[in-house]
Amino acid sequence: THDIHLIGGGLAGSEAAWQLAEAGHKVRLSEMRGGGDETAAHRTESLAELVCSNSFRSDDAESNAVGLLHAEMRGLNSLIMACADRHKVPAGSALAVDRDAFSQSVTEAIANHPGIDLVRERIDILPSGPVIIATGPLTAPSLAAAIGVETGEDALAFFDALAPIVHHDSIDMDTAWMASRWDKGDGADYINCPMNKAEYLAFYEALLAADKMAFKEWEADTPYFDGCMPIEVMAERGVDTLLYGPMKPVGLDNPKTGHWPWAVVQLRQDNALGTLWNIVGFQTKLKHAEQVRIFRMIPGLQNAEFARLGGLHRNTFIKSPILLDETLRLKSAPHVRFAGQITGCEGYLESAAIGMLAGRFAAAELSGTTMSPPPLTTAFGALLAHITGGADASTYQPMNVNFGLFPPLMLEGKSKKADRKRLYTARARVAFEEWKLTLPPAHLQQPELAHP
Ligand code: FAD
Repeated sequence: THDIHLIGGGLAGSEAAWQLAEAGHKVRLSEMRGGGDETAAHRTESLAELVCSNSFRSDDAESNAVGLLHAEMRGLNSLIMACADRHKVPAGSALAVDRDAFSQSVTEAIANHPGIDLVRERIDILPSGPVIIATGPLTAPSLAAAIGVETGEDALAFFDALAPIVHHDSIDMDTAWMASRWDKGDGADYINCPMNKAEYLAFYEALLAADKMAFKEWEADTPYFDGCMPIEVMAERGVDTLLYGPMKPVGLDNPKTGHWPWAVVQLRQDNALGTLWNIVGFQTKLKHAEQVRIFRMIPGLQNAEFARLGGLHRNTFIKSPILLDETLRLKSAPHVRFAGQITGCEGYLESAAIGMLAGRFAAAELSGTTMSPPPLTTAFGALLAHITGGADASTYQPMNVNFGLFPPLMLEGKSKKADRKRLYTARARVAFEEWKLTLPPAHLQQPELAHP
């Protein structure tokens, strides 16, 4: 018998199981690898396997949002962080790990925990009792189908199509202007970046010549689905194709010249705070450094700072902003929680962090108490709020934690970027410590791992 069922023993599921078990609840953790199933990316049967890079990214809690998330997780007895710290390898200011030793230590800590029953099995239907679904970007198709029945198929995606996202304060609004095409809508919903013919041709040539990322073998047969063709593939179809697609200038009078530019790149608001803007229709498989170089050729974006770069991957995720409540429960079936990348966060650390929160929300509920969500000014809170309501549901795509998700600082005058980052993290630390005091009692000490 168990109090709660957890499906998926990845980064999120392992962390959630640990949090629940440490709070005294009995967990059944079902992981299909090792039980006759595999995914296209995992290579082992270990829990919390890192399918690609061995890095948890920056460990700088003073001036980096990921580093701040590391610190907050360490502050709440994170199994993933404890194992990562034990098995770290030199990587400058980043936290990188010996991947096999890391996953092995997570597996042993989970398997040896008396509160966790680790079962190697695939789950194909939504259980009727309390459950957390943490099956990740490569959720087994049978379970994905069952999720689709509950959420509605339109609210479940099997691929991401990431257009780059730019921090608003890095856009040159002396060059760009706000307007909607033909002045429709409320008047000025888009940021428009104008290009003359020479600028457009240089941009077009750069796209054709750019370094692209290859599709993985198992992604190669990915059909380009409606509206998600990479910008460089569209460019390959002819010099004018983009001018009839995402760079269409019609109906957009440049206030500086009084007429339509040769081409226009549009950005649309991406979060409720208005701090992040996505480049409309610019999903891409260009290499990251190439994206930065080429997208900064766009007038108005010459100094753009990117909160996320573009991409196109196999990725199962739900439209969390409309489906989930603020504690990650499915509104239509509150006994079901989601955690990890399937909620639309992106990355090892973010997935583990959302796993931690799902585990703690569920633990509080099972104990008959409640846990208030983390403040918006913390890394936990900023990431959670983006997933559960802050993001625009109609364009919802996976997202890393970044300062653009935090409520903006109210600063008088200009301050240096480095100073602003420190102000974000200082504000977060105070809010985090205050919030921690409100948490239901649970183990706050560092995990005692069976095999450090
Ligand atoms: P996962 O870690 O994938 O865990 C989900 C688990 O659920 C898996 O173990 C799976 O076997 C299991 N499962 C699935 N369906 C079922 C079922 N029906 N029943 C039982 N078990 C099931 N992030 C980074 O930060 N850095 C990277 O370099 C990086 N590279 C990536 C490369 C690829 C190819 C992919 C697909 C993703 C990559 N990511 C990377 C994102 C990364 O996968 C996720 O951030 C992270 O692993 C997600 O954690 P998760 O716990 O949500 O899912």
